[in-house]
Amino acid sequence: MNQSLNPSYRGRLAPSPTGHLHLGHARTFWAAYERARAAGGVLVLRDEDLDAARSRPEFAAAMLEDLKWLGIEWREGPDVGGPFAPYRQSERRGLYLEAWARLVEGGHVYPCVCSRKDIARAASAPHEGQARPAQDDEPHYPGTCRPAVEAKLQVPDTPAGLNWRFRVPDGEEVVFEDLRQGRRSFVAGRDFGDFVVWRRDDVPAYQLAVVVDDAAMRITEVVRGADLLKSAARQMLLQRALDFPTPAYFHCDLVTDERGERLAKRHESLSLRALRAAGLAPAEVRARF
Ligand code: GLU
Repeated sequence: MNQSLNPSYRGRLAPSPTGHLHLGHARTFWAAYERARAAGGVLVLRDEDLDAARSRPEFAAAMLEDLKWLGIEWREGPDVGGPFAPYRQSERRGLYLEAWARLVEGGHVYPCVCSRKDIARAASAPHEGQARPAQDDEPHYPGTCRPAVEAKLQVPDTPAGLNWRFRVPDGEEVVFEDLRQGRRSFVAGRDFGDFVVWRRDDVPAYQLAVVVDDAAMRITEVVRGADLLKSAARQMLLQRALDFPTPAYFHCDLVTDERGERLAKRHESLSLRALRAAGLAPAEVRARF
């Protein structure tokens, strides 16, 4: 990477160590790398190992190795350190707790006792005008536990034991200019409902952790897969509630298999490991993007 770095560009790679990286991840991460390089900026690697039940240290080691093998370099990360360490989400709980407490104090979140089953039952009778959630997206919360008015609560000692949901401003259009997908717009309360920021099993939810970390690590541009477009709208609401800046967004097109299905970690034959074992060189893998 360049010696003199452009401090006004900070990008990130944010893989989750829940399986082996596949061709789809590789293409997205390569795009993130190229954009950071073109800007002469800094690229950060953040290990998104929040979910202890699904994350494994061997996958974390494999993802770093696979990305390096592919030719991607980062300036800051769990293996090289940096000014915003630690770069593993499992070691950043204090920051997430602080943000959760601010959300409670500000009346932006409320506790929810609904189980997944309760929500699935309510979601099977969709209300008119409510978009059906995408398969991999958070189900639309019907609002069972939502207090009638915004309530500023005393911050409990711990968020554990309850789900904590962000109260979305119903009917508000969240619009952004995606640098790859163009202008995108989602309506709060229609395209997505009150989403979880802290899970009852005491794990901070993805939306909260990503917003806290992108702000704390001074990320200026988020490059990731287009499956997270709607999450960008949720994240922008959280950024506003927490008084954090909104980064620029560049959502890459998703890679699909021959049946048109989005690649997932179950497509082991397209994992970087498997392609490498089959004798492909990094440049040959990149030629498939
Ligand atoms: N860790 C997330 C994933 O692997 C990506 C989060 C993000 O880029 O915002 O899907």
